[in-house]
Amino acid sequence: MKYTVLTLFPEIVDAFFNTSIMAKAIERGVISYRSINIRDYATDKHHKCDDAPYGGGAGMLMLPEPLGRALEAAGAVKKTQTAQETVAAETATPGQAKKRRVIYLSPSGRLFNQTMARELAAEEELILLCGRYEGIDQRIIDTYVDEEISIGDYVLSSGEVSALVLIDTTYRLVDGVISAESLEEESFSDGLLEYPQYTRPEIYDKLRVPEVLLSGHHEQIRRWRLKKRVEKTLLVRPDLIQKGLEAGWFSAETRKLIVELQDTAGLKGDTDERN
Ligand code: SAM
Repeated sequence: MKYTVLTLFPEIVDAFFNTSIMAKAIERGVISYRSINIRDYATDKHHKCDDAPYGGGAGMLMLPEPLGRALEAAGAVKKTQTAQETVAAETATPGQAKKRRVIYLSPSGRLFNQTMARELAAEEELILLCGRYEGIDQRIIDTYVDEEISIGDYVLSSGEVSALVLIDTTYRLVDGVISAESLEEESFSDGLLEYPQYTRPEIYDKLRVPEVLLSGHHEQIRRWRLKKRVEKTLLVRPDLIQKGLEAGWFSAETRKLIVELQDTAGLKGDTDERN
């Protein structure tokens, strides 16, 4: 997977790529990355990248020309380019016309979730466009952007943090970055939130690790964890349970647990992991 980030502040995103698991994934060649400073594509003396919106209104908008040039430099293709032209380009320079998905991080986009993260993690390259000020000129969206994605129903001051959310969520799903086992029972992997986890010491501040986890009995541990997942999801995200039931995501065992726990009067008070 290759990430290309278009931003007015590359230093914000660069730091992330130089740290921890991401840095190791880059070293191993599983992930590659480049940041493009949009300001480098502003041709006037002051490298101006914003101007007032036509029709009035508060704030400034990012200018289309620097953005368009930066996108072309990133290899983005105009949406008006026909499929035939793409095939011709691929024939002339094999491998060059490969698919790059251009995403504009925007509060007006489709709401990001784990299913979208899995879908994006399978792409060859993501070109991520970070907005600033009041956003970007619509013609850039119309010409280059394949998809607008929002990270939540709130407004951030800039797209860099949103791009990092998308990158951090997707790169760990790329084959070879972290073990498949670590991803298996994570929150949202199958419509349920994660079970509570414990590490040493066995007793912390008078709180004991649940006995079952010390038992070494794999089947009992598996059942306990599933029960805790259902319990937590019912309590804090009943919408996910509803969605999973409708979509047929859950096993017969999970469905049985849902019914049992829904019927349990003590459910609300029964999530104390100390018991
Ligand atoms: N005027 C815009 C509006 O009302 O929708 C808000 C612009 S915001 C202050 C500046 C930039 O932050 C946006 O261009 C976008 O890149 C980013 N941004 C803000 N909220 C976001 C969100 N929820 N998801 C993704 N990106 C967001």
